[in-house]
Formats: sequence, structure tokens, C-alpha cells
Amino acid sequence: MAIASSVPFNCHQGEREQARERIEEATPAASFHMDSSEFRRRGKEMVDYIADYLEGIEGRAVYPDVEPGYLRPLIPTAAPQEPDAYEDIIKDIEKIIMPGVTHWNSPFFFAYFPTANSYPSMLADMLCGAVSCVGFTWAASPACTELETVMMDWLGKMLKLPEAFLAGRAGEGGGVIQGSASEATLVALLAARTKVIRQLQAASPELTQAAIMEKLVAYTSDQAHSSVERAGLIGAVRFRTIPSDDNFSMRGSALQEALEQDKAAGLIPFFVVATLGTTPCCSFDNLLEVGPICNLEGMWLHIDAAYAGSAFICPEFRNLLNGVEFADSFNFNPHKWLLVNFDCSAMWVKKRTDLTGAFKLDPLYLKHNHQDSGLITDYRHWQIPLGRRFRSLKMWFVFRMYGVKGLQAHIRKHVALSHEFESLVRQDPRFEICTEVILGLVCFRLKGSNQLNETLLQKINSARKIHLVPCHLRDKFVLRFAVCSRTVESAHVQLAWEHIRELASVVLRAEKE
Ligand code: PLP
Repeated sequence: MAIASSVPFNCHQGEREQARERIEEATPAASFHMDSSEFRRRGKEMVDYIADYLEGIEGRAVYPDVEPGYLRPLIPTAAPQEPDAYEDIIKDIEKIIMPGVTHWNSPFFFAYFPTANSYPSMLADMLCGAVSCVGFTWAASPACTELETVMMDWLGKMLKLPEAFLAGRAGEGGGVIQGSASEATLVALLAARTKVIRQLQAASPELTQAAIMEKLVAYTSDQAHSSVERAGLIGAVRFRTIPSDDNFSMRGSALQEALEQDKAAGLIPFFVVATLGTTPCCSFDNLLEVGPICNLEGMWLHIDAAYAGSAFICPEFRNLLNGVEFADSFNFNPHKWLLVNFDCSAMWVKKRTDLTGAFKLDPLYLKHNHQDSGLITDYRHWQIPLGRRFRSLKMWFVFRMYGVKGLQAHIRKHVALSHEFESLVRQDPRFEICTEVILGLVCFRLKGSNQLNETLLQKINSARKIHLVPCHLRDKFVLRFAVCSRTVESAHVQLAWEHIRELASVVLRAEKE
């Protein structure tokens, strides 16, 4: 089939024969073939493999026992000239890949923050791969665009976001799926930068972009994720770090003080990133203080709630989002804690024109008859890349199959487990809890030196039964216990704690000797 169709169609019969022979000669003997019936068979096998993997994940060491560079010697130095057999590839998964995998979905994985994983989401991803449309404009795949807009409204309603953030039928705001919280922060920063430059140039046309950029200053707390500072590096604007208070929260007074100093020095404050659920200890910036200052000073307020945002679908945690009404943009990662597999980072803006106005270019080949309007969205204007996957399918499957109640139950289970761990730690006088436990993260440490805690963590991770990562809170080295896996139960938390206690005894004994 492929051969016949690649023979030029506008040549004579004799020439066609010769061309066909030339192509057949050039075609390797063992040509690749996975037709639809083979795909059906292999696909079913793969689904079984995945289900077995997830069902049996507890039996695998959560953290791999390999050294850097382990993989290269195990595979050929270049791609094969002739097709490999599918069976050989599958055999290599267990031989080469799995030994080097950190099992983020293991119920003994308590590191970083969770990565979302659910069967409905994986099924939707299969379909996304099959459709493989590139939905940069509405016309490039109307369902891809329209489902995304509606899913972002659904999710916004789950969080009880102010109406201004929703697209509705012809709202000024709306949501977009970005690949990551880092991208969302960068997009917000670039949009805010363009907006302030245009405003200042409208008032003083003699000002050059370079002269303005030199004076721009953005703010975030000392607890913000490194991706915030990185957005500043990429966007070529300076970030000033605001010292957080004793609860690791950015307060209005500290921000105001920095603003006054910078304005007095002739700088132009234009952008603030507030974090809800910081990476080190899940603390919350004080939006009710910071928000009004941003509005009064005409600064763009972006909220990064990468992890914690999912919890706001529960009424008992929604108060943590109070003050979002002051923000220009808000972002969190359903791919962390809302059972939608990576990648799916939900970002809303109050004024879609702030994004589309900043990033719009319209070459002829991307124009269509239904240009970006209240009803029609061209998401290419809302993001950095042009291409985009049909990611809203994952949200649609997950939201429909779990329902809001199912998703709330997932969040509540994790929060209950983190409190269970907290109370276990509190019962052991050798340990201390370092910050208030609000969601699914517990920061704890052995009372004693940083060295002691570093040794304990090193022992925990080299035993490979559970996996944790540390953080620094001021000058203290702290262990983070994040409830992560969809399948984690109380029994796993209890086992993890027993293990930590045993290793702590070893470390403390060694310290005395
Ligand atoms: N912001 C916060 C508060 C985070 O905790 C994280 C990651 O854990 C990020 C941003 C970065 O997220 P992403 O990997 O989606 O860029």
C-alpha cells in the first residue's frame, strides 16, 4: 500500500513500473508492521502489564538501586537499522527500564509532592494519543479547544473561583491548560511585563522598552518555588525576595516595606507571585493582606497553588483561597493532586486579553474564519509553544468518573493520613513537628543537630523501603513526609513510621557511641 501510493501518479505506465521496482529494491526485507489487529493484541497486553505494574507496585523498591550512567551500557549505541521485535522491547522494560524507575505511585513514596495517577486519566491519554491533534487554534481541532474551555470552567466552579475567572459564554476571563506551574508563572510574568511596558509607553512615548525593563521589579516570598525566580531570569526582570513571617507566610507589611524602598529608588514594581502551599512546608501567603496592596499599586498578582490548589474543591479548605479575587491570574496542578495524570496545569486569568494581547502574532497560515473572540478561543495566544495536546480529555474522564465527591474523598483521605502521621510523630518525644500540618505534608525532624537529621534521611533513602526528600526551614534541616500515592492507606503510613523510628534509634545510638 505505502509503496504504491509513493509512486509518482503523473507518469507513464512503464515509468511507474520502474519506480515501483526501485522502491521495492530499497525496501528492507524485514519491514515494520504493526497493523490494527496487532495493535489490538499488544494494546490489551499493555493494559494488563500496566494494571499488574500498579497492582504490584508495593512489591518493588520505591527508589532505584542504580548509579548514574547505568543505562547506556545496557542498550546499543545507535538505533537499529532493522526493526526490533516487539517481544524484545517488552522484555527490555523489566530488564533495563524498571530497575531505574523511581516509583512515584508506590504507597511507600512520600517525597516531593504527589504525581496524579488514575485509570480514567490513563485511558483518556490513550485516546489523546490516537487523535493526536495539535489544537493550537479553534479550527485546528474545535473539540480540543472547546472541551478545554468548558473543563476549565467546570474546575473553576469546583474551586468556587470568582466568576471573573470563568469563560462562561462570553466572559472576559477564562482558563487554559499549561504544561506546568513553571510555565504558568512565566506566562503571567511575560504578560504583566508587556502590560506595564505598554501602559508606561502610552503615558510617556519617549520611554524605550529597555529603559523600562531596567527598572521593573517583581516580588515573591523567600518560600516561593525556584521556578518563580527562574521566570524572572527568563523574562529578564529582577525578583526581590520578601522575608516570610514565623509561619513562613508572606505578609502585607513586609511587601509594603519593600515596595516603598524600591519606589523611592526609582524602580517600577509590577508583579507579585503569592504562593498557596509552599514547596518546603505547605505554608500560605496572606492573600487578604497582599492582594489589596497589589490592586492599589497596580501590580499584577499571580497565585501559585501548584500543590494545594486541588484541596480547594473541599469546602473545609476553600477558605485558604480567600483573597483570590484580588489576583490577575491563578494556577494549580491537577497533575499533582487531582488524579489527572501529568501534564495538566490549570491557569486562569481575569482578562484573557492580557494574554492574547501580549503574545498574539497572526501569520496567514494560522488564520481561520473564526478568529479569537468571546466564543472562539485560539489557545496558541495563551501559551509559549504553538502546539498543544488534547489534555482536557483527561480532565473530562476523571471529573465524570470520580465526580466532585470522589475527588473530595481522595483529598480528604490524604489529609487524614498526614494528620495520622503527625500524631504518630508527636507521640515520640525524640521528634518534633516543624510547621502546622494543614494538608497532606508533614515537616518533622529529630530534636537535635542538622547532621543527625541528614544521617537519618540518608539511612531512610538508602534502605529504599520508603522515599522522602528534605527541605531547609530557615537554618534547620527538615524531613518532609508528603502523602502521595492514590493507593496509600493507614497501614503504609504506620509501616513507614515504624521504619523511620527504627532507623532513628540506630542513628541516635551511633551518635552516643
Ligand atoms: N510551585 C510550587 C509551589 C511547587 O510546589 C512546584 C513543584 O512542586 C512548582 C511550582 C513547580 O511545578 P511544575 O513542575 O508544574 O512546574
